[in-house]
Amino acid sequence: MTEKSTGSPITWPEDPSLVRHILSLSGGKDSAALAVHLRDRVENIEYIFHDTGKELPDTYEYLERLEGYLGQKIVRTTFGTTFDHILRIKGGMLPSTHRRWCTDLMKLKPFENYIGDDFCINYVGIRADEDRVGYISHKPNIRAVFPFREDGIAYEGVQRILEESGLGMPPYTEWGRTRSGCFFCFYQQKIEWVRLKRRYPELYEEAKSYEKPNHINGNVFYWCGTESLSDLEQPERMAQIEGNWNKAQIRIAKHQPNRSLAETLGGLHVEPRRREGCLICQL
Ligand code: SF4
Repeated sequence: MTEKSTGSPITWPEDPSLVRHILSLSGGKDSAALAVHLRDRVENIEYIFHDTGKELPDTYEYLERLEGYLGQKIVRTTFGTTFDHILRIKGGMLPSTHRRWCTDLMKLKPFENYIGDDFCINYVGIRADEDRVGYISHKPNIRAVFPFREDGIAYEGVQRILEESGLGMPPYTEWGRTRSGCFFCFYQQKIEWVRLKRRYPELYEEAKSYEKPNHINGNVFYWCGTESLSDLEQPERMAQIEGNWNKAQIRIAKHQPNRSLAETLGGLHVEPRRREGCLICQL
């Protein structure tokens, strides 16, 4: 098979033993469920996790649980340095939706380095009910495949796979976080910052400590747009964010008459609305 790429065409090997099979785990439910789904379907599959060193404790716990189920080690990639070191090189300018160097340097590059020039099939956990594009490497030796789409597995199917395997949903969902990835991820919603503050006050403090003047122009960048974490943690502001979130959930529940408010608030059967983010960090 000849693969098209932005560079030169490349000839895909006919010998299947020359092709590696890799599933990149994020610590999220979709990639975890895909690992379960593929465990007995794909031989010699390799599981990897790109550790930024700024992950939630829940993520490490979930990966350990998953290793137990898979009976196989999940390889942790590194990126040769630390987030703090890269941040210093970047003049202290925090990553954001417009300056997303964190994903490139701490997730995508380690992924491509791990594969090198080997031919590789990359299994991606985008579900049948999702209309979005996953990370597709521009490297011609990497082919992305989407087993959940091919097998018609949607959100409920992922939940079922995780329940039946005994793994369950990622632990952070119990306290209302919707995404895996760094504890300070700028993609999280304000309600998630409030919950982080309540659940892991020390991580909230650490995130807050990054909000200081950068060395390029002296501006202070905030993780969540125009509001600092110092302002957001004020009790009246946290109460306001929680109140707004509850009202929004009640509005959503009214449009889902077949589900009880408790179900909607508890997120039992519907996926919490997520803002766009990096799939390699969150799937
Ligand atoms: S989880 Fe968020 S902060 Fe961490 S690498 Fe991904 S996009 Fe960047």
